[in-house]
Amino acid sequence: MFEPMLLEVRNASAFTGSGNNTYLLAPAGGPACLIDAGIGTEEHIEVIATHTAARHSPLTDVLVTHAHVDHASGAPALARRLRVARFGKHVWPEYDPAGVNWHHVADGARLAVGGTELTALHTPGHAPDHLAFWHEASSTVFTGDLVHAGTSVAIIHSRGGDLIQYVASLERILALEPQRLLPGHGPAIDEPARVLSVTLAHRRRREAQVIEALRRGASTVQMITDSIYDGLAPGLVVLARENVRAHLEKLRHEGRATCDADEWRGT
Ligand SMILES: [Zn+2]
Repeated sequence: MFEPMLLEVRNASAFTGSGNNTYLLAPAGGPACLIDAGIGTEEHIEVIATHTAARHSPLTDVLVTHAHVDHASGAPALARRLRVARFGKHVWPEYDPAGVNWHHVADGARLAVGGTELTALHTPGHAPDHLAFWHEASSTVFTGDLVHAGTSVAIIHSRGGDLIQYVASLERILALEPQRLLPGHGPAIDEPARVLSVTLAHRRRREAQVIEALRRGASTVQMITDSIYDGLAPGLVVLARENVRAHLEKLRHEGRATCDADEWRGT
């Protein structure tokens, strides 16, 4: 039975929801692998050290889904404390808050880690470097920030977020027909097809709202954001604007909107 251990980072905030999940694969007596590095808190590292020591399973590999700080920035602290041999991620030279010596993980790479085999799936959209890790034997996917149960994922245009890629990445995961998703935030997803479909439908609905806002004459990212989102906490307005911008860029790419000096119009 494939039972990755959920080790929570306990960094709840407006941006991380209930906080980040990391997952430990630690076969008794074999090499351990951690999926996502967290932020390097003493408490998190202590929990990892306790579990790996109890199983005589030294942490040799850390795989990171993407470079965002809540997923990657703990890598140097892990390197110092646990002598991790390899840190794997899809490299993104323009953005790297961790600064460890990354081993580049390409799309389709088969990774012998944690006593089993995972396949890396390059699934950009939330971030250009985003990877999901597919454990075919148990039909489980570690999905990072591709999909969360009950909340939508931020597509941050100014940090390389891309909605066309995001939709393609969701469809790629859906096509695998997985039985379980283990996301970077929130609970495990036991009905992947339903949750992925809801996530795709949410994006289509937002897109329709953006098109409708343009039709009614809203022409700036701020105006469109104000017309769609109601009563957002101030800290989340920035993310909402990023999402709207990502939708507009998708529409522009598809020839359904134009932009001139920050003024947007539908076509
Ligand atoms: Zn992220």
